[in-house]
Amino acid sequence: MKTLVCIKQVPGTSNVEVDPETGVLIRDGIESKMNPYDLYALETALRLREDLGGTITTLSMGPMQTKEVIYESFYMGADDGCLLSDRKFGGADVVATSYTLAQGAKKLGDFDLIICGKQTTDGDTAQVGPEMAEFLSIPHVTNVGKILQADEKGLTVQMNMEDTVEIQHVPYPCLITVDKDIYTPRLPSYKRKLDLEKTQEIKVLTLKDMYDTDEKNYGLNGSATQVERIFPPESNVEKTTYEGAGKEVAKALYGILAEKKYV
Ligand SMILES: Cc1cc2nc3c(=O)[nH]c(=O)nc-3n(C[C@H](O)[C@H](O)[C@H](O)COP(=O)(O)OP(=O)(O)OC[C@H]3O[C@@H](n4cnc5c(N)ncnc54)[C@H](O)[C@@H]3O)c2cc1C
Repeated sequence: MKTLVCIKQVPGTSNVEVDPETGVLIRDGIESKMNPYDLYALETALRLREDLGGTITTLSMGPMQTKEVIYESFYMGADDGCLLSDRKFGGADVVATSYTLAQGAKKLGDFDLIICGKQTTDGDTAQVGPEMAEFLSIPHVTNVGKILQADEKGLTVQMNMEDTVEIQHVPYPCLITVDKDIYTPRLPSYKRKLDLEKTQEIKVLTLKDMYDTDEKNYGLNGSATQVERIFPPESNVEKTTYEGAGKEVAKALYGILAEKKYV
């Protein structure tokens, strides 16, 4: 069984800056971590490998510092890792991101199963998994909260939808996106870190390595949408603070409610 897990590096801090011209997050040099949902995706792959055997490859797209999360995946138990990194991939929206990841997956070979997190903590669109499956022309199931059965032919899964729970059977090759708490992610192994730190190679693919090398389909050029502006919400609600003993504050509050005819 050949499994591919998509992992994204996201800001590990809320103190992030946005490029004023492109509206894209400046990711270079900021504190980062693996998208939390992708830890669940990787743990799902590791559990399936324990039952069915096979290999796990992790795939990410981003600047060279993204290698950090791929190394983390090795310390958790992934066999191989690949980074898609090229300035031409920068500024991608969900369509261009999904297309690039699908191209990367095609280049790496035939996978039985692709696992993504349900969503990220930065872009948060939850569209990359399904769009990637469409580009690869394979079936997908989203919001998977439980694997009910797994064998060499396919998976039976429970999807946690907003108001309902659905059971679906999906044959390989397929893509699933997993919800949080599907399994508790294991901690990275210190021993694996010591063993692999200096020896394990990460494959890096650029635009020229893809089957489709037309730069119109990647990055800002290939994006149907662009984030025009990101800004913190402005609060225009006037606030008044009352201090004092409980009775005094309650009296003042009653006075305001009475004035506004709420009581
Ligand atoms: C504030 C903000 C608003 C945005 N709004 C839009 C918008 O309205 N429309 C739009 O098209 N784009 C938007 N983007 C850009 C969008 O975040 C990027 O396209 C991003 O690369 C993919 O979308 P996502 O983070 O929402 O992924 P999601 O679809 O939430 O991610 C689901 C899963 O896909 C996989 N995945 C996603 N990205 C990668 C990656 N780079 N490498 C490996 N695996 C990955 C992971 O497994 C992840 O758990 C926005 C970005 C920001 C920061």
